[in-house]
Amino acid sequence: MRKLVVLGATGSVGRSTLDVAARHPQRLQIHALTAARDADGLLELCRLHRPSIAALVDEAAAKRLRAALAAENIPCEVLAGASALSEVAGASEADIVMSAIVGAAGLLPTLAAVRAGKQTLIANKEPLVMAGRLLMREALRSGACILPIDSEHNAIFQCLPPQYRCGQPPVGVRKLLLTASGGPFREWSAERIATATPAEAVRHPNWSMGPKISVDSATLMNKGLELMEASVLYGVTDAQLDVVIHPESVIHSLVEYVDGSLLAQLGQPDMRVPIAHALAWPERWESGVGGLDLAALGQFRFASPDLERFPCLGLARAALRAGGHAPNLLNAANEIAVERFLNGQIGLNQIPQMIAACVDAGLGVHANAADDLEAVLAVDAWARDWCRRELQRFSVTTITAVEGARVHA
Ligand code: NDP
Ligand code: MG
Repeated sequence: MRKLVVLGATGSVGRSTLDVAARHPQRLQIHALTAARDADGLLELCRLHRPSIAALVDEAAAKRLRAALAAENIPCEVLAGASALSEVAGASEADIVMSAIVGAAGLLPTLAAVRAGKQTLIANKEPLVMAGRLLMREALRSGACILPIDSEHNAIFQCLPPQYRCGQPPVGVRKLLLTASGGPFREWSAERIATATPAEAVRHPNWSMGPKISVDSATLMNKGLELMEASVLYGVTDAQLDVVIHPESVIHSLVEYVDGSLLAQLGQPDMRVPIAHALAWPERWESGVGGLDLAALGQFRFASPDLERFPCLGLARAALRAGGHAPNLLNAANEIAVERFLNGQIGLNQIPQMIAACVDAGLGVHANAADDLEAVLAVDAWARDWCRRELQRFSVTTITAVEGARVHA
């Protein structure tokens, strides 16, 4: 019996993780569940999964949860505050930690899990982008086993030899090919993309996900973040990474070997597949997801990404090539820009404009910054401040359809 901590339990990946875990009660016990402020969501999960600990960032929400659990006689310790998340992630009782918080807020709890040598399942890609070298260094030091959850990176892991571990450069590999659905605006003109509303952007054709990653998928920034994530997890350079548009989202990624062989992992677009793979690893467990009816699918399509309509992908590649804190600056600017877009303050086409300007300004200021935790957090905070200050330059001019479609990041 292994004890599981789910960071970001109330989110899309968190709930899929609990769905898989609940199918294996003789193998996994839920030790702790965390969220930011969704006390009702966490209460419902506590009723179902009976964790020993529940933690919320928001103190008032934690108070509400504590009272509700007591009223229902559910034994569960409730912790409050951001530091409680790192505490449960690194707790001696925990064996496996699922990192499924959205955004940079997941960095410290993920780092705590890695430093404590936990088997760390990483869905939360932003910390890998902002502090990849630091996380991989700490994993090497503590012996933490990192397993990728992002479907593309999990697919790549599955296509590498069984003895492969994240952080090592893969042997005999020419290229890693990340597939991308192309998102909801795959066939839209640049003019139409510029006027896209938040509601349109979060309506992903194949995957059901949280609002932030859905917008990232619409701008293709998600694929850009994934290039940096792959570079960190697999120790490969920009030149060894390619993106191919594959609208069916059935081939989740491929590894091209030096002999010309390409290995791919296929499956339904359901996060329970990579989650079950990593929870069971190196075994295989039931995930609740069926196979594929290939004859019914009929055909797979592939295309090159269009960098003119989707400039975020080019910006991410440039940041990967620039190295240093460029990915960290890009990630922070993207988080602020996406939040502003979801709140109707900027247009979708202004997301790349804001990011490009912020990375440009930040590289000048932070050219010689170290890559320790203090520097990572300082650069992240600088970029967020810069974007908030400069927001007037990126004010809404074209959006009219956001009324009633506001989404909270
Ligand atoms: P959701 O928005 O659905 O869930 C986010 C979770 O993080 C919630 O539990 C939320 O709590 C918690 N959270 C939000 N802000 C904070 C904070 N400041 N501190 C602590 N906890 C916080 O996100 P997803 O599940 O879609 O995505 C999670 C991560 O996984 C992202 O990094 C995403 O890129 C990645 N990912 C997601 C995929 C998917 O299919 N959804 C696929 C591949 C990767 P609360 O409910 O209280 O707000
Ligand atoms: Mg992905």
